[in-house]
Order: sequence, then structure tokens, then C-alpha cells
Amino acid sequence: MKRIILLSAMIAGLFLSQNISYAQKQCGIVAHRGFWNCEEAGYAKNSIAALRCAQEHGFWGSEFDVNMTEDGVLIVYHDSDVKGKKIEKHPYSEFKDFKIKNGEVIPTIDMFLEQGKKYPETMLVYELKPHSCDEVEDRFVEITIEKLKEHGLLDPSRVMFISFSIHICEVLAQKLPEFTVQFLGSSKSPEQLAEKGINGVDYNHGVYKTHKKWYKQARKNGMSVNAWTVNDEKDMKKMLKMGVDMLTTDNPLGARGLMEKSKINELK
Ligand code: MG
Repeated sequence: MKRIILLSAMIAGLFLSQNISYAQKQCGIVAHRGFWNCEEAGYAKNSIAALRCAQEHGFWGSEFDVNMTEDGVLIVYHDSDVKGKKIEKHPYSEFKDFKIKNGEVIPTIDMFLEQGKKYPETMLVYELKPHSCDEVEDRFVEITIEKLKEHGLLDPSRVMFISFSIHICEVLAQKLPEFTVQFLGSSKSPEQLAEKGINGVDYNHGVYKTHKKWYKQARKNGMSVNAWTVNDEKDMKKMLKMGVDMLTTDNPLGARGLMEKSKINELK
């Protein structure tokens, strides 16, 4: 009899250890640079097609990177230079004919937001790339706000902001306190960010491991929590177990499958 009880306990123990308990039962998937990793998007990051694919697949959000040219045109492009030409030091005319991987031109923010507004349920996760000095970054933020207004998207339920520039995060938090603003770098703790009025964190997933108290600290300060760029199932599980609000990934369909399997409600 004792042996049967012991065996049952061992089986139960094994079963429990394989069941991950999640801190939070819901999470939103953010397609990193759009859902680019598919044929329909032509595998082109930050393309209009990648945004459209993210929208059509119904992911919670679609992330994209924005840089500003010397003459104040905002373009959706990840790097600070195009073929060695620094974006902020040259006028838009020098970039307008450049084609990205799927044959599209580099989208201007106008082209991009035109597509963005077609699907009100998809959060536009707008990354402002760091620029050379505070003055240029101030202008960048101003033009960003103007453009969102022009397109009827200056709305915290439609757009949220992320940046590696602490200055940009501070200015956005001050100008648009009702919007989610998440800092991307690892140089500031949630407490330090909260002191500056910044209401969210978007750390690399490894940062939560290095700084074990930062997740709780962010929660204590009422901040939203995102993680980048979580592509492996093992890392996704860790982030979901910790309880992130959003998971930024190049593999949004993989994240969707994992959430289904783990009975986590995918926010849409
Ligand atoms: Mg980005």
C-alpha cells in the first residue's frame, strides 16, 4: 500500500513539475518590425506589407523603427544609415528611391500610418530611434506628434512608444502622459524610470535574468512590461511565466501556438 501511495506521489510530483504556472494568464504578441517573416511580406522588415500581415493575422501589436532625415521627414527604417549614408545628415530626396527587400520604397511615416489606421485593433508600437543630440530628438518628437495628429492616430489606444533614448522617453512622457512609453535600454531600473515619469519598460529578455528584482519593481511602480526580442520557445516560456504584458518577437505565430498550448489568453 505504502509503495502505491509513494508511486502516486511521485507521478503527481512529476506532473506538477512539468506544468508551468504562469503569473499572468494573458499576454499580447507584438510582431517585431511587423510580421515580416513570411512570404506575403517578402521577408522585408519594417515594410508596409509586414505591417499589413501583422494586422491581418490579428496580433495585438506591430512594432516599427523610425528615423528622421535632415529635412525632417520621418522614415520607417531600422539603421541610422542607408548604405553608409547617415539618415539624419541627409535630406529625404537621397533616400526616396531606395528599395527594401520586397521591392517597396522605404516607407515614410505618412505611407506607414495610412496602412496603420486601416486596422484600429492593432496597436502601433512606434520606436523612435536615438538621434545625435537633444535638440534633434526634440524636433523628432514634435514631428512624430504632428504626424500622428494628422492621421487621426494620436490616441493611446492606437499607438504606444518605445525608445533606447532616455531623453526621447522623458519628453514623450511629459508631453503625452496618457500614452504608454517604454524604455528599451538596460541602463535604468524601473524605479529610476518611474521617477522620470516613464510608465513602461521594454527590456531585452536577458535583462530580467540579470536584474532579478526589476520585474517586481516595475509592477510595484504600476508600469507596463514588455520584452524583446523573444524568439525561442524556451525564452518565451520564461517571459510568459514571469508575466509580461507583451511579448515582442520575430516569431509571432510560434508565440501564438505556445500560448494556446499553455492556456494563456492571447490579447488581440
Ligand atoms: Mg525596433
